Amino acid sequence: MHTLETLPFDNAFARMPASFYTRLAPEPLPRPYLVAASTEVARLIGLDPAELARPDFPQFFAGNQPLPGSDPLAAVYSGHQFGVWAGQLGDGRAHLLGEVAGPDSGWEIQLKGAGQTPYSRFADGRAVLRSSIREYLCSEAMAGLGIPTTRALCVVGSSAPVRRETIETAAVVTRLAPSFIRFGSFEHWRVLRRMDELRQLADHVIERFRPECRAAANPYDALLRDVGRRTGELIAHWQAVGFMHGVMNTDNMSILGLTLDYGPFGFMDAFDAGHICNHSDADGRYSYQSQPQIGHWNLYALGRALAPLIGDQAAVQAAIEESYAPAFERHFMDLTRAKLGFAQALPGDEDFVGETFALLQSQHPDYTQFFRQLSRLPSQAEGTSRVAADAPVRDLFIDRAAADAWIALWRARLGAEGRADAERQAGMRAVNPKYILRNWIAESAIRAARAGDYSEVAAVHDCLCRPFDEQPEYERFAAPPPDWAEGLSVSCSS
Ligand code: AMP
Ligand code: MG
Repeated sequence: MHTLETLPFDNAFARMPASFYTRLAPEPLPRPYLVAASTEVARLIGLDPAELARPDFPQFFAGNQPLPGSDPLAAVYSGHQFGVWAGQLGDGRAHLLGEVAGPDSGWEIQLKGAGQTPYSRFADGRAVLRSSIREYLCSEAMAGLGIPTTRALCVVGSSAPVRRETIETAAVVTRLAPSFIRFGSFEHWRVLRRMDELRQLADHVIERFRPECRAAANPYDALLRDVGRRTGELIAHWQAVGFMHGVMNTDNMSILGLTLDYGPFGFMDAFDAGHICNHSDADGRYSYQSQPQIGHWNLYALGRALAPLIGDQAAVQAAIEESYAPAFERHFMDLTRAKLGFAQALPGDEDFVGETFALLQSQHPDYTQFFRQLSRLPSQAEGTSRVAADAPVRDLFIDRAAADAWIALWRARLGAEGRADAERQAGMRAVNPKYILRNWIAESAIRAARAGDYSEVAAVHDCLCRPFDEQPEYERFAAPPPDWAEGLSVSCSS
């Protein structure tokens, strides 16, 4: 186990040519204090969890005190934002401290909100407490759900004022990922026609993370296929759990297929396929139902960037078409079958899943509760006992007859497998979370934190690390939005 002073840094990205980044130190913040820290994430980098309690711990993760062995830098990238080419962006408020060799793999450590960089454009390089808590909680909630994601080690706050719609206070969230390289990192070099850098970046990703691509006739083609498959699986997982990213710009798309850059994200409460979680996204470009198409669009942006390395446009198109949609569809069907309690793939499943989502769309039950409660229903129920047995699901519907008709079809489909109820129900509980990071839950933790009480952030974090377990002490976090949360909205402002 390491102390903060002995973390074994080996900064591969910092050894790339200087054109990929600007070296610079974080800008200190006054009187940093600890809001939250994860012992589980500390263990990923071999950091002794006792270190989190050190009085000077916040100094390191506010950017006030350098970690020995780190080599801070901000990386350059570009990207498409809301479907429009945005030109150069880059780490405008992120400092990559370096890469630590963890017990199982390497982890890059990044401070988000530690001050301006050459890529800040007109912005202040800061992040507010509210959005830093949201990123921290959601990264770890996604990890708990088994969804590929960047991780979060800690949140450190400061009294420094930050101007958004109102004056808020600054915070820094420390994020970890094997790499923070984005689709937009490749678009950057393609648009500048800098083929050497384009190739170096692709080689870096292949060498470090996807060595199996080297064996392919064209390693870059293999890389694009790998990204296509992983992105398809990632978005299938988002759809299955009801997660909406909110800003699927190409600069927020991870080349490793991780959920990256938590801003105005949301989880589905009452099901509505058209739901837009980002208040700033008036057209709904990134609505729930649009996410799969946007993933496809974003892969074309990446494909155009990689085209000079792959060859002709037809090869790029084949790489995307043969990877993304098939992976998305297969994974989404597999996940949804498991959510419904089906162990086998049978003919007609696509139709049944379609009917299920049509029912959810017409009735708008709470999405998470619907699947979780479904795990409680027996596979057989007749007569008057049926109404009582089905109550957990029926009660989520206004149109009980519609619920009954669907449940009858579901039972018929279960009957085709004849699995024992106990086994099926345990399987359903293991894939249908009881606890998700609903907006109202994040908001109540943020309100408490603003008042100086960080225990609610810790409680939400603790609960969401085990989202599939019954946790009676956290029953309150399983509830759909209370009345006070009616008008909550989240925007790009963070
Ligand atoms: P986002 O859509 O939040 O991922 O950010 C898009 C771009 O704006 C990235 O280059 C960010 O680094 C940059 N950015 C966002 N907020 C700030 C800020 N407060 N200060 C500096 N740069 C920012
Ligand atoms: Mg971003």
